[in-house]
Amino acid sequence: MFQSSHPVVPAHLEPLLAVEDVAVRFHSARGATRAVDGVSLSIRPGETLGLVGESGCGKTSLGRAIARLVELEAGSVRLGGVDLTRLSRRQLRIHRSDVQMVFQDPLASLDPRWTVGALIAEPLNIHRIGSRTERRDRVADLLAKVGLPPDAAARYPHQFSGGQRQRIGIARALALDPKLLVLDEPVSALDVSVQAQILNLLVDLQKQLGVAYLFISHDLSVVEYISDRVAVMYLGRIVEIATREQLWSSPAHPYTQALFASIPRLDAATAGPRAAPLKGDLPSPYAPPPGCRFHTRCAIAQPRCRSVSPELAAMPRTAHAVACHFPTSSSA
Ligand code: SF4
Repeated sequence: MFQSSHPVVPAHLEPLLAVEDVAVRFHSARGATRAVDGVSLSIRPGETLGLVGESGCGKTSLGRAIARLVELEAGSVRLGGVDLTRLSRRQLRIHRSDVQMVFQDPLASLDPRWTVGALIAEPLNIHRIGSRTERRDRVADLLAKVGLPPDAAARYPHQFSGGQRQRIGIARALALDPKLLVLDEPVSALDVSVQAQILNLLVDLQKQLGVAYLFISHDLSVVEYISDRVAVMYLGRIVEIATREQLWSSPAHPYTQALFASIPRLDAATAGPRAAPLKGDLPSPYAPPPGCRFHTRCAIAQPRCRSVSPELAAMPRTAHAVACHFPTSSSA
């Protein structure tokens, strides 16, 4: 669908984001659930880490935990060497500007009676950045950066298409010059041609600004286009993490292989054998299976898988890590 043109980030760069053993628990009438259960990952400056998995696997909760929009039950989130989980409320307010979120419909939770200019300027007002004139100039600059005309500032959100609304959301998220954007299904609601425009915009902005992305999506083709590395999440845990090339050429976790096998292929008649497509529903996060959480759907599960939870372990001489007792390589 898309043709990838993303630059590769040098591996020697120190991480911008370091997430260590993060857990997020939610309480509801059904009980307590660990939506995120012991996740560790890192993102380098200017890098895009894709985060994929089925709906309900904990991707959004992890993204919100990194943006400090939900409380962590355990673990730490370090951004630029600062542990965001140990800051006072006042300190967090200052550092929160370094990580911003972009949502599927970024304007849905904002006041529709505000002009686009006021919506984009709001973070600047909250943080008391610049004079009125400087904020107006900043809004004009941000609109230009995301490909919208200057007169967009005086119009209202409902006057824009879905793709334009996402450009406005990106402009608002960039207002405070963040180091990291958490993008939660940012193109899922858009037509394919508009998706490509927004993805190309994100790639261009990253080249210009050096901002890093955590790109959350259930769509593998979108993630393939934009990511340098990809983490695969299942029932609150990372089960595989690798460079885009490693993951697409030799996925090693049965869940990743099943996700790939679920994508229709034009060359199905001539391509080699693939893993069985994903079957069954995601188990309830309120009562995750013991041992390997994927064992209820795994085609190669062994008795050990039902009692012993596999650790995420790096494969020899690579940055490719897999949480499986019996990882196998398969051509995507
Ligand atoms: Fe399948 Fe066992 Fe690997 Fe889990 S640990 S993915 S059940 S083979």
